[in-house]
Amino acid sequence: MGLIVQKFGGTSVADAERVMNVARIVTDTYKQGNNVVVVVSAQGDTTDDLIEKAKEINPNASKREMDMLMTAGEQISISLLAMAIQKLGFPVISLLGWQAGFVTSSVYGSARIRRIETERLQNELDQNKIVVVAGFQGLNKYDDMTTLGRGGSDTSAVAIASALHADKCQIFTDVEGVYTADPRKIPNAVKLEEITYDEMLELATLGAQVLNNRSVEMAKKYNVELEVLSSLVRKPGTIVKENVNMEKMLISGVAKDTQVARISLVGLPDEPGIAFQAFSRLAAKNINVDIILQSIGRDGTKDISFTVAKDSGDEAVALMKDFIKSCGGKDVAIDKDVAKVSIVGAGMETHAGVAAKMFEALYGAHINIRMIATSEIKISVLINAEDADAAVAAIHDKFIG
Ligand code: ASP
Ligand code: MG
Repeated sequence: MGLIVQKFGGTSVADAERVMNVARIVTDTYKQGNNVVVVVSAQGDTTDDLIEKAKEINPNASKREMDMLMTAGEQISISLLAMAIQKLGFPVISLLGWQAGFVTSSVYGSARIRRIETERLQNELDQNKIVVVAGFQGLNKYDDMTTLGRGGSDTSAVAIASALHADKCQIFTDVEGVYTADPRKIPNAVKLEEITYDEMLELATLGAQVLNNRSVEMAKKYNVELEVLSSLVRKPGTIVKENVNMEKMLISGVAKDTQVARISLVGLPDEPGIAFQAFSRLAAKNINVDIILQSIGRDGTKDISFTVAKDSGDEAVALMKDFIKSCGGKDVAIDKDVAKVSIVGAGMETHAGVAAKMFEALYGAHINIRMIATSEIKISVLINAEDADAAVAAIHDKFIG
């Protein structure tokens, strides 16, 4: 007996049959004596389809109107799910983000949740209703609907769990949990029983697309324990929390990210302030830089290379061309045929030789490393894009077998 928040993603509610399946999961939880708040995303590819429709009419539509459009996707899924729950004979009500009290910042398209005014939610729960809430949306100070950024429903669920002090927050998806690698590509990938918030954050950022990374940040901040599990197979999933059993595996995951580009600045003057000037130009345009490598200065010049997200590559190159001109450097180059492969594991903080083992795996697969970056719980290498899958397989084999 408690309060359980359950979130279902787009694939879990893609069609009538799936919606009925979700209704059964929710009502089974309710029958066990729990209060249940359900957060849902738009069905299947609805959000993408809506964006396409908008583009046909006006590719430069304002973000406000885009949010007005996109929030409609979740309105469809909450009402359909509520109807499914009614059909099974249970008390239920569906609420849009604003009805559920989601107050957000005013930035359309990537609003932040400021707070949840829980009165209405609490009121409905007190009447023993199952409450179905539209994920991904809220209301700003202009009384306009906003969206939280793609994949934002996970964050909606965590925010509700935190605001209502829920006993559990379950994120249902189309995989059975968090794996040591993408199970569609690595057949012997292992499902993790538990993973820390920090590891999950790294994996989420690295493109293991089970959880949206803002939702993990929020879960960590408010200490909301998450369970990632399948809506199609009824089995325990993976628990995401602050601390996990220390006798766990050294490595909790191998991930690849092919949405990266490497930019090289060649022949820069070897003097103070060069890195500062280059990276502040990128920062001013909100371009995130990841791995950075600087060569040893020789004959008064040095090179700096770094990675950015592929879709900001061209903008970064344009900025760097201006910069090179202003400082008297030689050249700017971009390489988009690269991939970042990383291992993540809280255990690596206390174990030596993890990097060597990873490099040995790459050597064994004849893969050349072009850049390396490390943090306390992560080691990333930049390699040629065509080697990415082989690299993940070789590294996974070495550490997990
Ligand atoms: N429907 C929204 C999207 O596709 C939100 C979500 O799926 O979490 O981005
Ligand atoms: Mg979606």
